[in-house]
Amino acid sequence: MSYSILKVIKEGLTGQRGWKPAWRNPQPRSHYDFVIIGGGGHGLAAAYYLAGKYGKKRVAVLEKGWIGGGNAGRNTTIVRSNYLLEGNQPFYEFSLKLWENLEQELNYNVMMSQRGVLNLIHSDAQRDAFRRRGNAMIFSGADAELLSRDQVRAMLPFLDYDNARFPIKGGLIQRRAGTARHDAVVWGYARAADALGVDIIQNCEVQGFRIEAGRCVGVETSRGFIGADTVGASVAGSSGKLMALAGLTLPIESHVMQAFVSEAVKPAVPGVVTFGGPGHFYLSQSDKGGLVFGGDLDGYNSYAQRGNLPLVEDVAECFMSIMPSASRARLLRMWGGLVDMSMDGSPIIDRTPVDGLYFNGGWCYGGFKATPGAGYVLAHLMATGESHEVAAAYRFDRFRTGHVLDEIGTGAQPNLH
Ligand SMILES: Cc1cc2nc3c(=O)[nH]c(=O)nc-3n(C[C@H](O)[C@H](O)[C@H](O)COP(=O)(O)OP(=O)(O)OC[C@H]3O[C@@H](n4cnc5c(N)ncnc54)[C@H](O)[C@@H]3O)c2cc1C
Repeated sequence: MSYSILKVIKEGLTGQRGWKPAWRNPQPRSHYDFVIIGGGGHGLAAAYYLAGKYGKKRVAVLEKGWIGGGNAGRNTTIVRSNYLLEGNQPFYEFSLKLWENLEQELNYNVMMSQRGVLNLIHSDAQRDAFRRRGNAMIFSGADAELLSRDQVRAMLPFLDYDNARFPIKGGLIQRRAGTARHDAVVWGYARAADALGVDIIQNCEVQGFRIEAGRCVGVETSRGFIGADTVGASVAGSSGKLMALAGLTLPIESHVMQAFVSEAVKPAVPGVVTFGGPGHFYLSQSDKGGLVFGGDLDGYNSYAQRGNLPLVEDVAECFMSIMPSASRARLLRMWGGLVDMSMDGSPIIDRTPVDGLYFNGGWCYGGFKATPGAGYVLAHLMATGESHEVAAAYRFDRFRTGHVLDEIGTGAQPNLH
């Protein structure tokens, strides 16, 4: 079923009885050409591009719970391509370009809102670093603009510009960046993939891999064995646990990360604002008025999807140091997600030592913005056996050869990426 304004009007006038489920609920077949494990944004996008762009048939997505129940439905929805390194910037710009056309492509309102992402500058050294980053972005075809303190003040008058420790001295803005609606992205890809014949199988946990003569020939699931010629693992925070079932140890740790929403307030924050360097904090305002914000990881390894109070205090302190007036807003909700922290802060999209088994993970804090791009390049890798050119650096062997993609220069310290 395609969606249009005429359809909305017709259904409104006829009691909303003509809508059909947006995707089927099929029984798993005994064998597929392509199986993708993980029904988050990445897995569903990969299935969509495999079937749509690469013309592949008999594709399934296996999800242990419900689609979008993982990080796809728990993140703060910031979409941007303000990266510095050559191995990263082209990928994220590729992904941002896919976002810019996603609603037309999927015929689904993913609420992509290019309201801008502003990184605040608090010192002269940080200004130099952001100037360099902005130049790198412009060189690779993205947009970036350095703002003076007065320009930032005109945009965000309620910030604390004269905080004794963290005065605001300007900002780097990417105007094409912004936010999108997390679950709508999942549903949009699910609906479009289903229309192309992809089987989306929920409540189907992968519990093992069947490997014969070094080749993956299928997966053992909570709903029985499912054979597959090619398998792609895309399970974000569960990457380590899943790949251990194939005998693989990853350069990835799982950590809890929390996010927060305040009660609704009048429109105050026009775009996304980040307070990075001295602290770690990011803020936007949802269309319903809630202030959506988050900060660091909880800082220890865990598979829990809820966090602890010390981090709540840390995030609140960051918030107060840039926007003291927010102290009067009440917190409405908070939750935790399970992020897959790689050792250099950059992702891995690569074949594994097991033939026919491919991996996408290590997205750390930032895989939501990568959803269309990661899906596309994983589909490319699974369909052709070769890395897509914008993801050529996302290989496992960079940790062996030392060609790490350490975007923020913190070394092998996942809690700092
Ligand atoms: C609090 C928080 C805030 C964030 N904010 C941002 C942000 O602002 N911008 C940004 O770009 N990124 C952000 N991220 C990161 C982003 O959400 C993730 O990197 C991204 O969603 C990961 O890809 P995904 O959507 O496919 O993952 P998920 O939605 O987690 O999908 C993985 C799926 O695999 C399933 N699965 C796991 N194990 C199995 C198994 N054995 N068998 C079958 N299925 C399995 C899970 O149930 C899950 O549904 C944030 C993350 C968190 C937690």
